[in-house]
Amino acid sequence: MSAFYSWSRFALRTAAAATGIEGRPTKLIFIVTKRCYSRCVYCDIWKIKDTPGGLDGELSLDEVQAIAAANPYLQWIDFTGGEPTDRPDFPQVVQAFARACPDLLLVHFPTNGIATKRVEQMALEIQQTVRARLVVSVSIDGPPELNDRLRGVRNDFEHAVDTFAAVRRLLGPDNVFIGMTLHGHRASCGHTTSELIELTFAAINGALQARSEAAISWDEFHLNIPHLSQHYYGNTGNEAKDGFGGEAHRAEMMEALKLAASKSRRRFLSAMGAIERIYRVEAGRYLAAGRTSITCAALLSTVYLSEKGEVYPCTIWNRPLGNVRTTAFALMPIIEAARRDGVRRAVAEQKCPNCWTPCEAYPAIGASPVRSLLALSRS
Ligand code: SF4
Ligand code: SF4
Repeated sequence: MSAFYSWSRFALRTAAAATGIEGRPTKLIFIVTKRCYSRCVYCDIWKIKDTPGGLDGELSLDEVQAIAAANPYLQWIDFTGGEPTDRPDFPQVVQAFARACPDLLLVHFPTNGIATKRVEQMALEIQQTVRARLVVSVSIDGPPELNDRLRGVRNDFEHAVDTFAAVRRLLGPDNVFIGMTLHGHRASCGHTTSELIELTFAAINGALQARSEAAISWDEFHLNIPHLSQHYYGNTGNEAKDGFGGEAHRAEMMEALKLAASKSRRRFLSAMGAIERIYRVEAGRYLAAGRTSITCAALLSTVYLSEKGEVYPCTIWNRPLGNVRTTAFALMPIIEAARRDGVRRAVAEQKCPNCWTPCEAYPAIGASPVRSLLALSRS
């Protein structure tokens, strides 16, 4: 398929979703593994015990290939984890979807950046064999000392900067981002969240300069709101910990988002710049009111698949819908049953836990053009 044809199909399917037509989702969020050797304080995925042959019940490569073949309509896939590159056959997982989905446009994976050589090698293998655009985000949650403490790995900051630089050299600056989660920083170090994002930004650029690498701009620095999720992060016991939505923390995150927005230099008419601005405006609204004006696209344009084949509406809502191992690996029978059971309606009526995660926010922005334009006019 030509890229033009695939983009046209994507635009048509997104427009159909915007009018409420319940077709097949364009985007899959796929947890390829829950293996991870970070020790982040706000996520309990790493506590799952690793085993040499793969984690208990994890989908095999044969099963992944069957899932790809049974769902060839996907156009955008977030391959996430755990640490996706801790799955040794990760490039083959991506290749399976690329072979089976002729209109695949966008592939994204996040990385903790610990294993620079491996991440670089896997990104290269994917880039050389997959036609879709590859985007990688590298997690850094603070300046070196704080980042290493929050992520529980010695020299994590330095490894993550090495990985960012290596993958950016490979894929180009528009395809590699830093992702920083705004997790209770003040209590961790005494700085406000706004001060912390400036210190983190400066520390990353200092480290890049020391490596003779180009600086990053604020457009390459994405801020995430922390969320709780039992079936994904396994962190719902963490509410009592600092950094999960206390009033002062929410106010600090709003300030930090505004600060980052004021420093962004993307041109007004850049599509990515506009989407990021809408994301930040709605993140502020979500932090202030617990809701956004944009309707979530879960089970309309997007769906979540766990490493064991369980289907959920999204990363946040602990609402198991069925397992692809019982449907010959097809997602649609499970999605259609969930729609009949009113799960999609509950999402549209905001009767789900409500959140504003980037995984769901970006497709939701596409599927809500009028409200997105209104949000953009307020940015
Ligand atoms: S947030 Fe990501 S890197 Fe950190 S423990 Fe969880 S899965 Fe691993
Ligand atoms: S708004 Fe609801 S359905 Fe959408 S991602 Fe958040 S919790 Fe899930």
